[in-house]
Amino acid sequence: MHMISDRAADIAFPDSLFDERRARLRERLDRIKLSYLLVTKPVDIFYLCGFKGSAGVLLLGPRQARLWVDPRYTLQAREQSRGAAVIESREGLSKAVGTWLRRARVAAIGHQEAHLTCAEFARFRERARGRGSGPRWTAAGPILDELRMIKDPWEAERIRRAGALTASVFRDVLPMVKPGVAECDLAAELEYRMKRAGAESPAFETIVASGPRGAWPHARASGRRLQGGELVIFDLGAILANYAADMTRTLYLGTPTRRARRLYESVAAAQRAAVDGLHPGMQAGQADQLARDVLTKNGLGDFFTHSTGHGVGLEVHERPRLARGEQAPMPAGSVVTVEPGVYVEGYGGVRIEDTVLIAGDGPEVLTPADKDPWFTS
Ligand code: ZN
Ligand code: ZN
Repeated sequence: MHMISDRAADIAFPDSLFDERRARLRERLDRIKLSYLLVTKPVDIFYLCGFKGSAGVLLLGPRQARLWVDPRYTLQAREQSRGAAVIESREGLSKAVGTWLRRARVAAIGHQEAHLTCAEFARFRERARGRGSGPRWTAAGPILDELRMIKDPWEAERIRRAGALTASVFRDVLPMVKPGVAECDLAAELEYRMKRAGAESPAFETIVASGPRGAWPHARASGRRLQGGELVIFDLGAILANYAADMTRTLYLGTPTRRARRLYESVAAAQRAAVDGLHPGMQAGQADQLARDVLTKNGLGDFFTHSTGHGVGLEVHERPRLARGEQAPMPAGSVVTVEPGVYVEGYGGVRIEDTVLIAGDGPEVLTPADKDPWFTS
């Protein structure tokens, strides 16, 4: 069972937070002529009413929100839920919610088609129908992802603190980065220090990838020992009071060769160009293009094998995607990563990543760990 940690609980939510979020969601539902939405993705339930359990169903109606949980979560839901009536169900959530929909004669309802299995959906529908025709079901699409993309100042501050924690833990571990140390020991040290500094958990398994292993963009930390004359990639992020940060730094052990210097400086220039270019309203694909153009100009375009970034918030990967051709505009208040990289088989890789707030008055880097010096002498 996942319980909210004491430290996270210390950070009080503003009283109006969840009311405002539900009001914004209702406005959006109005536009697509829906008055009910069945919310089944746990992080969205948390976003809308503060309940942090891993099982529950939230039904948002025109005036009320109802949260169904099974007996494992009743006490937790009563304590955490803000503005949603908690209903305990011992017969299965889909049956209970379906029966409620039938009795209330709900005519039309949206559901989160990407976060509901076919079997679960069939159970809700079956129950809601009874002997009648039941409500008309509409796939609501990424309506909540779009809402969550825009962070209010309170949320931006949560991510700023998660980013500051991530950066400071990295700085503290830097003196331990030297030849002979195993990747997994550095990863363990980083994660331990994140928790000691107040993080709930790492946002993902910390990556430490040295030498040739750095050519795998998603290498996990292994037992490999760092060697002089190699590049090492560190990709880490903390979750602090529910909000994540995501940061990557690359270091060279020793005096960099021309080859290492060319790779590093190209990626650094690509990353700067994309970060500096971020502004409200720009298409996510344009940010990707800014980074990609710099690498292509340096003859490294083919070695940049992933997209430039992603949104960060309650989840470490959320909307938008900073990828080729993405036309979605990024409004003020979006928080995204900018993380170009190059990967050379048999040699190694360079990736530099920051979490950045797209503010009205320009981009703000939320993971303020130094990028220089990037090598040890
Ligand atoms: Zn990362
Ligand atoms: Zn990332």
